Amino acid sequence: MRLCRFDDDRLGLVDGSDVLDVSAALDSLPARPWPQPPGDALIAGFDKVLARVRQLTPQAPRRALASVRLRAPVANPSKIVNAPINYQAHIDEAKRDQGIAHGREIKTIADWGLFLKATSSLIGPGEPIRLRFSERRNDHEVELAVIIGHTANRVARADALAYVCGYAIGLDMTARGTEFPSFRKSIDTYSVLGPWLVTRDEVPDPNSLDLWLTVNGEPRQRSNTRRMVYDVQRLIEYATTFYTLHPGDVIFTGTPEGVGPVKPGDEIRAGIERIGELTIQVAPDYAG
Ligand code: MN
Repeated sequence: MRLCRFDDDRLGLVDGSDVLDVSAALDSLPARPWPQPPGDALIAGFDKVLARVRQLTPQAPRRALASVRLRAPVANPSKIVNAPINYQAHIDEAKRDQGIAHGREIKTIADWGLFLKATSSLIGPGEPIRLRFSERRNDHEVELAVIIGHTANRVARADALAYVCGYAIGLDMTARGTEFPSFRKSIDTYSVLGPWLVTRDEVPDPNSLDLWLTVNGEPRQRSNTRRMVYDVQRLIEYATTFYTLHPGDVIFTGTPEGVGPVKPGDEIRAGIERIGELTIQVAPDYAG
């Protein structure tokens, strides 16, 4: 199934080029007093919501997908976990290009570990990416995004995929510079998730998916997730060696080669096999 959040926090079931409005399924989520448990309530209650979605589907109002504004399918992740340098060809280009490396010695994911992006940076493809520092190089990075379904701590590799709720396309937008990645990549609108969540059952092997990105129709990135240095299972195992993942936490699994700058007015299109494709606009800063 393909589930999306659209317009004013409506819940949608994607059916070809249409979206069925199944927002009534959100009634199956518990009312939660303060403090809310960590994580995203929709993902934590996913099985109940899906059961209700199935009941609602035959009578659900139908809209054209092209007529709705797609938001990030996860509204409230407690963490956006990111894999740095997780494709060898991207490691190689980072070593060659000081516009990426900025004097840092490029090492390995085993040396650097994972980093976090602020959850306030998260948007869906229906909102524009707002470039905060137009004088800097601001790069696109297309990545497979893994959405965690269940509380996960010290997960063994063999069990890792059982903790996955689904997958989406992630754009890890990046202001290049000397600051720590978690700072440079946490700018408002610099984490794009969408166009919808594809449930785990539709992606039997997340480690063999073609992924690609174009800017204004020009091919920039094309690879396959089989080229990841740490695959999805290893990333879940690695992350949960250090901290607990909560329902709705998102893992951006790293970008292949071909990263490059965008500017206001550009249109980014990105796709991943079995998930779909998204289109998003690049705009100036709110102040700009
Ligand atoms: Mn990245």
